[in-house]
Amino acid sequence: MEIPGKIFKDIEIVGSIPIQHFCGCSKEVLYPLLHSLEKKDLKYAVMKAEPIELVCHICGSKYDFEPHEIAGLL
Ligand SMILES: [Zn+2]
Repeated sequence: MEIPGKIFKDIEIVGSIPIQHFCGCSKEVLYPLLHSLEKKDLKYAVMKAEPIELVCHICGSKYDFEPHEIAGLL
Protein backbone atom coordinates (compact mmCIF):
# COMPACT_ATOMS: atom_id res chain seq x y z
CA MET A 1 0.00 0.00 0.00
CA GLU A 2 3.01 2.28 -0.15
CA ILE A 3 2.61 3.07 -3.83
CA PRO A 4 -0.93 4.50 -3.68
CA GLY A 5 0.21 6.77 -0.86
CA LYS A 6 3.03 8.08 -2.99
CA ILE A 7 0.76 8.69 -5.94
CA PHE A 8 -1.70 10.55 -3.78
CA LYS A 9 1.05 12.79 -2.46
CA ASP A 10 2.07 13.66 -6.00
CA ILE A 11 -1.50 14.51 -6.87
CA GLU A 12 -1.79 16.78 -3.85
CA ILE A 13 1.37 18.69 -4.73
CA VAL A 14 0.28 19.24 -8.32
CA GLY A 15 -3.24 20.10 -7.17
CA SER A 16 -2.21 23.30 -5.49
CA ILE A 17 -0.84 24.80 -8.69
CA PRO A 18 -3.52 24.46 -11.41
CA ILE A 19 -5.79 27.26 -10.20
CA GLN A 20 -4.01 29.59 -12.59
CA HIS A 21 -4.27 27.07 -15.40
CA PHE A 22 -7.96 26.84 -14.71
CA CYS A 23 -8.34 30.60 -14.81
CA GLY A 24 -6.64 30.90 -18.20
CA CYS A 25 -6.04 34.60 -17.87
CA SER A 26 -3.25 36.36 -19.69
CA LYS A 27 -2.17 39.87 -20.43
CA GLU A 28 -4.15 39.73 -23.69
CA VAL A 29 -7.30 38.71 -21.81
CA LEU A 30 -6.99 41.52 -19.28
CA TYR A 31 -5.98 44.18 -21.79
CA PRO A 32 -9.57 45.07 -22.77
CA LEU A 33 -10.27 45.73 -19.09
CA LEU A 34 -8.18 48.87 -19.40
CA HIS A 35 -11.17 50.26 -21.30
CA SER A 36 -13.13 50.18 -18.06
CA LEU A 37 -10.73 52.67 -16.52
CA GLU A 38 -11.34 56.37 -16.99
CA LYS A 39 -9.69 57.87 -20.04
CA LYS A 40 -8.11 60.55 -17.90
CA ASP A 41 -6.49 57.91 -15.72
CA LEU A 42 -5.08 56.21 -18.82
CA LYS A 43 -3.78 59.53 -20.13
CA TYR A 44 -2.29 60.33 -16.76
CA ALA A 45 -0.40 57.05 -16.68
CA VAL A 46 0.94 57.64 -20.19
CA MET A 47 1.94 61.21 -19.32
CA LYS A 48 3.70 60.06 -16.19
CA ALA A 49 5.19 57.11 -18.06
CA GLU A 50 3.90 54.84 -15.33
CA PRO A 51 2.65 51.33 -15.91
CA ILE A 52 -0.87 50.38 -14.84
CA GLU A 53 -1.20 47.18 -12.89
CA LEU A 54 -4.24 45.01 -13.38
CA VAL A 55 -4.96 42.12 -11.04
CA CYS A 56 -7.02 39.19 -12.21
CA HIS A 57 -9.91 38.95 -9.78
CA ILE A 58 -10.16 35.19 -10.30
CA CYS A 59 -6.61 34.00 -9.63
CA GLY A 60 -4.87 37.13 -8.39
CA SER A 61 -2.23 37.23 -11.12
CA LYS A 62 -0.79 40.66 -11.67
CA TYR A 63 -0.07 42.17 -15.07
CA ASP A 64 1.73 45.41 -15.74
CA PHE A 65 0.71 47.43 -18.77
CA GLU A 66 3.43 49.75 -19.99
CA PRO A 67 2.62 53.31 -21.08
CA HIS A 68 3.07 52.50 -24.77
CA GLU A 69 0.54 49.68 -24.42
CA ILE A 70 -1.89 51.97 -22.63
CA ALA A 71 -1.41 54.61 -25.32
CA GLY A 72 -2.81 52.15 -27.85
CA LEU A 73 -6.20 52.60 -26.21
CA LEU A 74 -6.29 56.35 -26.42
ZN1 LIG B 1 -6.49 34.84 -13.67
